[in-house]
Amino acid sequence: PVLVAGSSTEKLKAIVGETWVTGKRVAALPKDGLTSLIQSVILNYQESKEPFYVLDLGVVTSLMDKWTRTLPTVRPFYAVKCNPQPAFLGTMAALGSGFDCASRAEIESVLALGVSPDRIIYANPCKPLSHIKYAASVGVNLTTFDSKDEVEKIQKWHPKCALLIRIKAPDDGGARCPLGPKYGALPDEVAPLLQAAQAAKMAVTGASFHVGSGSTNSRAYTAAIEAAKMVFDKAAQLGMPHMSVLNIGGGFMSGQQFEEAAPEVKAALQTFFSNDQQPGLSFIAEPGRFFAESAFTLATNIIGKRVRGKVREYWINDGIYGSMNCILYDHAVVKCEALACTSNCENPTCKASQTYTSTVFGPTCDALDTVFTDYQLPELEVDDWLVFPNMGAYTAAAGSNFNGFNTAAILTYLAYMNPTH
Ligand code: PLP
Repeated sequence: PVLVAGSSTEKLKAIVGETWVTGKRVAALPKDGLTSLIQSVILNYQESKEPFYVLDLGVVTSLMDKWTRTLPTVRPFYAVKCNPQPAFLGTMAALGSGFDCASRAEIESVLALGVSPDRIIYANPCKPLSHIKYAASVGVNLTTFDSKDEVEKIQKWHPKCALLIRIKAPDDGGARCPLGPKYGALPDEVAPLLQAAQAAKMAVTGASFHVGSGSTNSRAYTAAIEAAKMVFDKAAQLGMPHMSVLNIGGGFMSGQQFEEAAPEVKAALQTFFSNDQQPGLSFIAEPGRFFAESAFTLATNIIGKRVRGKVREYWINDGIYGSMNCILYDHAVVKCEALACTSNCENPTCKASQTYTSTVFGPTCDALDTVFTDYQLPELEVDDWLVFPNMGAYTAAAGSNFNGFNTAAILTYLAYMNPTH
């Protein structure tokens, strides 16, 4: 990996670009951690009290390390949709990741990093024509499909493109966001689809699936890998010579779930796709949440307060229409801490010793824009800060500018490991 503990600012410049470093939006992580970095950003750079993210590059590096140690034969193609923050993409590129792009704009943002098109999979089974033409023009030559109509479109506009047939994972029970209802060929659709591609003289080079985002059932990978093996067998029966890629999709989470899912994946690959049965095979994956979620921390400012009986009500400057859209779309459970009490606070009169039932609203005029009810927080005042950890997955990527609060404009600061610590 290029980015290691002790990265110099010169190395960082090469990875995340000159403007980040010279614009003072990157800093070595202090000994006492992220909280004190956030405090210093607030003091020195966030006079306007706008919300901001801190991206911890050390977390990204160690997650890549964990992936390569645990699943060394499976090459990650980071799913850009999860969080397309440019410095984050640059870091993933420097760490050797490939990229799963869902649209023209995502392909453009990855190519802009200097990544070559053969490190990109256009992994959207149903693509707009203009985006297919664009992929053809820049040499992105690998995509997914699960319908005959898609084969016809690709044949017409990008005949050199290699195809992975996306199958429906047999089991996505337990996924936080199941994808099966929308995508993936059913078992009896596989042969007709392979034949349609054959008739169109399009090379099907493999199979893909997605067990659902935020999968909690690691056996789902085993079942899906077994189903993919049946696709390879069917293709062999049909005399299709190009099958060489198995794409096991995303669904991974960076904590305990990965510890359980990775051995399942390893064992299933060994059982169904051992190298002697299938020489020359390559395995890829499309993890999004695994890399992005824990790398980003969000700081929001308290912009209003109201006391109603025993309940404290606060307004903050990000909410459901912004970063916390993940509560609705991604079914996320978010957590926050009051900034003053997130580190080892030694103040004897610390307000955190007593907590109050609190409601936290986002800034827009909609009552739906409520981040917490019945949440325990210390007594806080206007201008205090709430800090939300693990806010990197499906947050800023899907926020709006409803009421003029523009999620896309939220600044990100970068933290990297300091060589002296
Ligand atoms: N690949 C595809 C095709 C997806 O649709 C998604 C998420 O929706 C991902 C990868 C990333 O999934 P995750 O963030 O669960 O790893």
